[in-house]
Amino acid sequence: MKTAIFNTKPYERAAFETALRTTAQPPELDYLEPHLTPVTAPLAQGYRAVCAFVNDDLGADTLRILAAGGTELIALRSAGFNHVDIAAAADLGLTVARVPAYSPHAVAEHTVGLILTLNRKIHRAYQRVREGNFALGGLMGFDLHGKTAGIVGTGKIGTVVARILRGFGMRLLAHDVAENPDCVALGAEYRTLPELLAESDVVTLHCPLTPDTRHLIDAAAIAQMKPGAMLINTSRGALVDTRAVTAGLKSGRIGHLGLDVYEEEGDLFFEDLSDHVIQDDVFMRLLTFPNVLITAHQAFFTHEALGNIVATTLANIAQYQAEGRCDNAVTLQHHSGKAGARSR
Ligand code: NAD
Repeated sequence: MKTAIFNTKPYERAAFETALRTTAQPPELDYLEPHLTPVTAPLAQGYRAVCAFVNDDLGADTLRILAAGGTELIALRSAGFNHVDIAAAADLGLTVARVPAYSPHAVAEHTVGLILTLNRKIHRAYQRVREGNFALGGLMGFDLHGKTAGIVGTGKIGTVVARILRGFGMRLLAHDVAENPDCVALGAEYRTLPELLAESDVVTLHCPLTPDTRHLIDAAAIAQMKPGAMLINTSRGALVDTRAVTAGLKSGRIGHLGLDVYEEEGDLFFEDLSDHVIQDDVFMRLLTFPNVLITAHQAFFTHEALGNIVATTLANIAQYQAEGRCDNAVTLQHHSGKAGARSR
C-alpha cells in the first residue's frame, strides 16, 4: 500500500529500512521531510496511507485535504493521539491507527532519570566538575527512600514508574479514574487528586491528555501541593498550565520541575534551533530556573521503543491493507477519555 511518511528524521528512516528487510509484503514507503500541515497535505495526493508523528498537524483542515486526495488510513507513530481531530476523521471515514504500547520502560526510565538528576543536581555537577569547580554548595539533595511519590495515571507507564520507585523504598500514592490491581499489588494507595498532591514529595504525571485532563495541574492544584515538592511531566505538555507552574516555581511552592513535554512544544521540539532566536518567552523563562530540567520529548527514544514503533506501524498498515480495519484504531470513545479510561 502506498504510504507517505511525513516528518521523518534519519534515525526513523534507518529503523524503517531495517524493519522492511524482514517484512514479508512490505508497503511502498515514501519518506517526506516536511511536517504534515494543511500546506503540505497535498503531497499525500494518491497515497492510501499517511504516517505522522506527534508534532504533525492533524486538525480538520489537514484531514479534509488528505481524504480528498484518496487517503484512507492515518498511521500514527505515537501512542498519544491528542493532536488528531478524531471526530473530523470519523466524519471523513478515515481510520486513525496508533501504536498503543511500544516501551513503557523507555518513558518510565526517563521519568526516573529526571527525578534523580533534579534531586541530586547531576546536570549542575556535570558542568561544575568540567570547569574545575569541585565545591558542593547548592548540590544537596534528599533521600528518595521513605519519601512519598504521587503517580497520576496508573496505566502501562505509571505502573512501571511505581515499580521502580518502590525499589527506592518510596511510599506510593496513586490517582486514576480506575484502580489498577498491578499498582495496588505494588503497595500503591489510591487517593483523590487533592489528597495525592497534599501528601506527595514527588508528583509524576502519566495520564493522557483529554478534555478532562487539560491543565490538570493549574494554579489551584499547585496550591494543594506539598511546599517544595517535585513535579514531573513526561506525558503531554498541556496537562500542566505552564504559566501557573512558573508562578509556583517563583513562590517556591514547586521545588523542582522536570519536563519532557511542553504545551507549545510543536514550534520547538525535534528541531535544531540553536541558531535561532526563540520567540516563546514562557518557555525561555522556564530555562532560567536552576531547579528546572527540560528534555525535548525524548522519553520514548530508545532503540527498543523505536523498533517497536516501526514494527507496529508496519503491522497497522498491513492489517488495514488486508482487512480494511485496524485493531489499533482510535475511536471517538478513546478520544473522550471514557473508553474504560485505559487508552489501549
Ligand atoms: P495508558 O493508557 O496505559 O495509561 C493511562 C492511564 O491514565 C490509564 O490508567 C487511565 O485510566 C488514566 N487516566 C485517564 N484519564 C485520567 C484522569 N482524568 N485522571 C487520572 N488518570 C487518568 O497509557 P501509557 O502507555 O501509560 O501512557 C501514558 C501517557 O504517556 C500517554 O497518554 C502519552 O501521552 C504519554 N507518553 C509520552 C511519551 C514521551 O515520549 N514523553 C511516550 C509515550 C507516551
